Amino acid sequence: MEIPLFLYNSFSRTKEAFRPLDMNNVRMYVCGPTVYDRAHIGNARPVLVFDILFRLLRYLYGKDKVTYVRNITDIDDKINAKALERGVNIERVTEETIEWFHKDMDFLGALQPNYEPRATAYVSQMIDMVSKLISLSFAYPSEDGHVFFEVEKFADYGQLSNKKVGELKEGVRIENETSKRNPLDFVLWKPSSNEEPGWDSPWGRGRPGWHIECSAMAKDILGDQFDIHGGGIDLIFPHHENEIAQSTCSNDMKKFANFWLHNGFLKIEGEKMSKSLNNFLTVFDLIKRDFSGSAIRYNMLATHYRQPLDWKFERLAEAEKTLVKWNNKIRSKNEADLPKKVLNALLDDLNTPLSIHEMHQLFNKGKFDDLTDACEFFGFVAKDKKGSLEIPSELSENVDKLIKERNIARLSKNFSLADKIREDLLDAGIIIKDSGQETTWETSQNLEIKKLKKL
Ligand code: AMP
Ligand code: ZN
Repeated sequence: MEIPLFLYNSFSRTKEAFRPLDMNNVRMYVCGPTVYDRAHIGNARPVLVFDILFRLLRYLYGKDKVTYVRNITDIDDKINAKALERGVNIERVTEETIEWFHKDMDFLGALQPNYEPRATAYVSQMIDMVSKLISLSFAYPSEDGHVFFEVEKFADYGQLSNKKVGELKEGVRIENETSKRNPLDFVLWKPSSNEEPGWDSPWGRGRPGWHIECSAMAKDILGDQFDIHGGGIDLIFPHHENEIAQSTCSNDMKKFANFWLHNGFLKIEGEKMSKSLNNFLTVFDLIKRDFSGSAIRYNMLATHYRQPLDWKFERLAEAEKTLVKWNNKIRSKNEADLPKKVLNALLDDLNTPLSIHEMHQLFNKGKFDDLTDACEFFGFVAKDKKGSLEIPSELSENVDKLIKERNIARLSKNFSLADKIREDLLDAGIIIKDSGQETTWETSQNLEIKKLKKL
């Protein structure tokens, strides 16, 4: 049976009919987080966009016929810098960040990918791929322990980003790596100092470059060729261009991924999100402010994935209201049969804003059964799993004690202490609610018993 799914392929710059290479195993690879800090809401965008695509593929081809890989980049100089700054070892940084990432993405209702490979577990595959590229003369080692990919050897370089090699050259920064033959050549392997993480290799102790990590993990799990490769639009150049070069040249010039999908960037209230503008927002910040995972999903999917997304709190509050309105009418079901118009919108390059529009129509027409099915598919669950986490009774007594202390601090106008207690509790995953004379509390999905014990 022909399935009429159309997806915009960044490679051809057109919407194309999607046909998997193997109907019994639809394969998708999405570049995952570099784990050195809490995920910001920009990082959550690809997670939620490709979660919808994963759900759609499972719906169309069958739950057990889709393989979704989203890697974890746990070798990166930003991680090394973070460990140094905090005075802890690298594993401490990566393990902690991965745990946060999992909790945050669970809170947002994202399904787990089938595989979540970590770069550190695939270094030997990376070394094999680099060796092969050298033996085929697509890459060359330098005397100082680097290995570079020689861009001029790959005639199709620049095809994904739609640039000629000459144009790309102008945009490239001149880096310290003076041992390159050509400024566009990129690093496959680099030497490590004693303080830096390193692995033994034919080129001395060193570590892989970022791009080769994804090429090696994708090959190992999905094979030389697969259906969809995704990530944020910022990854088109150089990351994805370089992945294509490495993988094509080391896999007998076979086409790497058939479809390339990229989500647009997210801004906050019209401005680029950045630490210096003080508008840097993590998913955890939103959880601490007591927004529901469903409302965050809704707000993310109310804009088409290829458009830039302007994150506005007003809209998030509206999303929250819409979901309360819908949730009063829907009940929990397990198997969703998507209403036709909602499905048709998704089949047209994942038009989630149109699907959501159709869901409003279903509500207005009182078609609550259909709305239930659509909400189920979208992961707009009837009730978020709030307050479902158990904490031991002695700790809950401690929370009550801290709330009393906070109330006393408020009455004696010691607001800085009151705020501190509130913040400390929030940080451990306890949400406080004041209404009139009464203060109640509940646990968030990010409850951290370890932190709570320390309070
Ligand atoms: P990183 O952890 O920086 O490697 O990024 C993980 C993913 O988040 C990549 O797919 C990026 O393209 C994506 N990403 C980073 N910042 C944003 C943003 N502001 N808007 C949308 N996607 C982003
Ligand atoms: Zn990647």
